Amino acid sequence: MIRSPFLVDVSDMLGRDVPARSVVIDVVVDWALQMSKIMVEPPLVADLAVAPIPGGILVRGEVCYAVEHACRRCLTDFIDDGCSPVAGLFEIDPGEDAYPIDGTTIDLEPFLRDETLLGLPLLPLCEESCEGVVTTAGIDLNTESSDDSDDTGSPFAVLRDLLPPED
Ligand SMILES: [Zn+2]
Repeated sequence: MIRSPFLVDVSDMLGRDVPARSVVIDVVVDWALQMSKIMVEPPLVADLAVAPIPGGILVRGEVCYAVEHACRRCLTDFIDDGCSPVAGLFEIDPGEDAYPIDGTTIDLEPFLRDETLLGLPLLPLCEESCEGVVTTAGIDLNTESSDDSDDTGSPFAVLRDLLPPED
C-alpha cells in the first residue's frame, strides 16, 4: 500500500505539551484552476512546522511551487514561481475553519491544495500592461471589415469568443 506523502502521524503530539516538529513535503501534484496549473517539475515543496495546540494541531510554514498560467487577455502561457506562507488548523472535532484529524493522523493534502490554489490569481495576466490578442497581433477586429463577412473561420474569431467583453 502506497502511503500518501501528505499524511503525518501526530500520535506523539495530541494533547501533549511537546515542541513543534518540522515536516517537509516534496511532492508532484496535479492541482489546477481553470487558467493555472501547478507544474510537475519542479515538484511542490512545503516546509512546515507541526505543533500541538489545545484541541488539535496547528500547521504553519510556507509552500513553494511553479505554476503555469494562461494569460486571460492574450492566452499566452507563462510561468510564475515563488513561495507563500500557509497556516492551517486541524481538530479532532473540526469547526468550520479547521481540517479533521483522522485518529492520530492529519492529511495535509486538502489543506495545502486549498492554500496553494487560493493564492493563485483568478485572472492571471502575463503582464499588467497586456493588451490582449487583438493588439498583440496588430489587427483591429472593429475596423478591419474583411472581404468575407463571415469570419467564423478565422482563428481570431475563436479567440475573441474566449475573451470576456471589454468593459
Ligand atoms: Zn497576456
